[in-house]
Amino acid sequence: MLSYLRMDTIFSKIISREVSADIVYEDDIALAFLDIAPVTEGHTLVIPKKWSRNFFDTDEATLQHLFLVAQKIARSLQTSLGAKGVNVQCNSEPEAGQTVFHFHIHLIPRFGDDALVLWPQGSYEKGRATELAQKIKAAIH
Ligand code: 5GP
Repeated sequence: MLSYLRMDTIFSKIISREVSADIVYEDDIALAFLDIAPVTEGHTLVIPKKWSRNFFDTDEATLQHLFLVAQKIARSLQTSLGAKGVNVQCNSEPEAGQTVFHFHIHLIPRFGDDALVLWPQGSYEKGRATELAQKIKAAIH
């Protein structure tokens, strides 16, 4: 059972039950449990049992499965807790706020009366968005 735990993080210990967590979903590929420090009540983490570092290196099949599981759980946050909305987020690398280096999807239920404020938005100088879009497009493969 431990052969897939190639990277020892707190999440591997939750998978192997060395550390307890409030588990809401489990199958052969995925595990989901409540975040210990919730942004809002019901904040859930969906993780793969097979280790990957983050969104960048997770394989296609795992990613597909995890996002389907995430959608099921998001819907259950609506029906069970009355969430009006949800933020789905994968912090990837320290610059993006990642602190646990085992891929995870945050599901943060939103109730309309919580304190979470999303990011400030800017604007582009003329021509800059086109330039950036061309660069990004050329690097997709
Ligand atoms: P990140 O900052 O890497 O995107 O998110 C890691 C999340 O894992 C944080 O929101 C943090 O509260 C949660 N977390 C860290 N340690 C534990 C733990 O031992 N148990 C649970 N349930 N969540 C944890």
